[in-house]
Amino acid sequence: MEIRSVRGMNDLFGEELQQWAHVENHVKKVFESFGYTEIRTPALEKIEVFSGTVGDETDIVEKQMYQVVTDSETYVLRPEGTASFMRAVLEHNLQSSGQPGRFFYYLPMFRHERPQKGRLRQFHQFGAELINDASPEADAELITVLDQIYQSLGITEYRVRINSVGCTECRSAYKEKLKAFFQPKLNQLCEQCQKRFERSAMRILDCKRETCKTLAQEAPLIPSCLCSSCKTHHERLKSCLTMAEVKFEEDPYIVRGLDYYTRTAFEFTSQLLGAQDALGGGGRYDGLSARFDEAPFPAVGFGLGMERLMIALQEKQKLPQSQFNPRFFFAPLGEKAFELLYPLSLKLKRKGIWCEISYDKTKGLKWLLKQANRVNADFSLMLGEEELNQGTVLLKNMKQGTQENLSLNSLESEIIRRSHRAP
Ligand code: AMP
Repeated sequence: MEIRSVRGMNDLFGEELQQWAHVENHVKKVFESFGYTEIRTPALEKIEVFSGTVGDETDIVEKQMYQVVTDSETYVLRPEGTASFMRAVLEHNLQSSGQPGRFFYYLPMFRHERPQKGRLRQFHQFGAELINDASPEADAELITVLDQIYQSLGITEYRVRINSVGCTECRSAYKEKLKAFFQPKLNQLCEQCQKRFERSAMRILDCKRETCKTLAQEAPLIPSCLCSSCKTHHERLKSCLTMAEVKFEEDPYIVRGLDYYTRTAFEFTSQLLGAQDALGGGGRYDGLSARFDEAPFPAVGFGLGMERLMIALQEKQKLPQSQFNPRFFFAPLGEKAFELLYPLSLKLKRKGIWCEISYDKTKGLKWLLKQANRVNADFSLMLGEEELNQGTVLLKNMKQGTQENLSLNSLESEIIRRSHRAP
């Protein structure tokens, strides 16, 4: 077959998908224990949700969005979660009570990037957003949730880096200072950073090119320019993180790619990942609702990549063991035995007990037991001519190798009694 999936977009199935589902459930439980409720938004949004809001000059909006063009509209496949979330909040007035609201999402994102290990074109993000709370305690809570997700899964090899990107006032003063610094060095910057210079000079600090990185080492950094309330916010954030027992470091070069951040910005990176080392990150975005021409309200959030979380778990050999095997494998020998076990298998399945049975009635015991092993059943249950005459069935514990005879009359209740696995 010549038709293949789109590059950078993967099929998921079998054991790998079971491991994903296990980890997904775990992460959802962490969110729930912090009081976050799920929100789902459509994969397709009007282009305006992202352009003009998350910043036209960001890579995501500038180069990475998949567009779907119809006669009358241009839509995009959601490249990130926060702008869609904000659109949904405003559309349904979820901010109107003025009370703090906690939301999480788990959704596929689409970005036209060059695929490599840990970088896909369709990837999956968990995200959390806390609205209507401007406090540093809220920022620390989000960082703690992210920390708890990794810690509780047994991943400890990561760095938590925090910074403050200031508020609109102190940031604009800082941007001027930064531009004055880079102005004489403009032609030494990479092409991308030269473009960034006018509209988002702070992102030059984020550039991965060596020449830009070297130049940025001498640049003025934001902590020296923060206004007193941003400074107080940041100091309090640090003491909250200490109270929450989150190990963090300050990094004035964390500016985040998106323009709507205010004050707190944070990133989790891990050497378990290789070149694409960002596990997750986020920050405060009090300025975003105004980009939708709505009254501002405070909000803070983060996004974490599921694929990268799975890579980290694999590196640490902490991937969950698959538990997807039948509890029982029924091995009827002959028509009469099949007619007895087939309806029983369906009845027990309806009760939530997985009893596998082969529909090939021509096979002998050897083949059937091979199947029981192949599907990794905990027990196999054999019913042949002899057992039928005696009114019994032979139950074999496949893990321990022990066997016992059960009465055919009480078979259903005997199976139910053995249906629970030890935790
Ligand atoms: P961002 O929205 O760019 O801040 O990304 C948040 C998180 O999503 C990152 O820390 C990564 O874990 C993950 N991520 C971002 N882009 C990709 C991608 N192309 N493929 C896989 N994971 C990604």
